[in-house]
Amino acid sequence: MDYLSLKDITASHAEEIHAAIRRVTDSGWYLQGKENERFENDYAEYIGTRFCVGCASGLDALILILRAYMELGIMAPGDEVIVPANTYIATILAITENRLTPVLVEPDPKTLEIDGSLIESRISPRTKAVMTVHLYGRLAYSERMADLCKKHGLKLLEDNAQAHGCRFGDRRTGSLGDAAAHSFYPGKNLGALGDGGAVTTDDKELAETVRTLANYGSQRKYVFKYCGRNSRLDELQAAVLDVKLAHLDSDNERRRRIARIYNKGISNPLVSLPEWLPEEQNVWHIFPVLSPERDRLRDYLASRGIPTLIHYPIPPHRQECYGNHPAMANLSLPITERLACEELSLPISPCMTAEEAAEVIEAVNGFR
Ligand SMILES: *Cc1c(COP(=O)(O)O)cnc(C)c1O
Repeated sequence: MDYLSLKDITASHAEEIHAAIRRVTDSGWYLQGKENERFENDYAEYIGTRFCVGCASGLDALILILRAYMELGIMAPGDEVIVPANTYIATILAITENRLTPVLVEPDPKTLEIDGSLIESRISPRTKAVMTVHLYGRLAYSERMADLCKKHGLKLLEDNAQAHGCRFGDRRTGSLGDAAAHSFYPGKNLGALGDGGAVTTDDKELAETVRTLANYGSQRKYVFKYCGRNSRLDELQAAVLDVKLAHLDSDNERRRRIARIYNKGISNPLVSLPEWLPEEQNVWHIFPVLSPERDRLRDYLASRGIPTLIHYPIPPHRQECYGNHPAMANLSLPITERLACEELSLPISPCMTAEEAAEVIEAVNGFR
């Protein structure tokens, strides 16, 4: 059994993907062309925003959003961005790369998402944004969060790298705040055959600024408005992503089926499951379980042929790269630190079978 077989996922859409690749290779046009235009339009429509701008990665999408707000005079170095402490490090890197200050907020240990009730007490006169992260494919948004941002004049930003297709009522994550970053890293729910990313927003000025920044800061050839960067989604990836986008909802439904089987079948006092609220449209990028005996459980499952991963073993504020960072070096975040010791990710993918899920359940339930 694989944790996640990218080979099987690609094979499940092979004919269409090969036709798309062929179309691009035969066209002789490899950057900033029709494939990007088509995918950007289709993805904006799917997410439910007016604009989508493709770029080179999820990290770049995050960096470009914050950088654009700085160029537009909405944020300045030293301003604060509220962010969950247990996110993947890319969210924090985008903040520090722009010389903004991350304000790390603990997650709710039952949902593993940012604890919304802690946000207001962390707002200071320098706070400019809340960056929520739909971690593990689960919604990390509420109307209360949006109202709070409105009340304090903060931008509400979404890191949607793990939650393509996740919903809040009939709206999708990526359309709930002022701007959202998406990653198309191969292992994500909507994954390319390499790197890719996108920014979605309803804000025309922001979308144009992101596009300009991603193109060396240029709107007209050889005329540079900003000191930009080169961050493009290539035509091959855009073409592949457009094929896979059409299957995203059914692929996510297959993940939900596995998650339902797990939720029903796993019963072991040493293993606790995240709360699964029925009104949520979780897309289960990751199926996290918690165990005080995590490392022993992981070895036991490995000995039974069940591969697992840990998301994530060392929280950002404990990483060597932030060892001297004034906002992070000496922080104590007991919930985040406990989750880093207890979280274990079980195999889940659109290609996993019910039989494989049953095998995982049997192994988990047999752990003593
Ligand atoms: C994957 C991921 C990113 C970064 O995306 P890349 O495309 O790998 O740069 C950012 N945030 C989160 C939460 C992620 O999981």
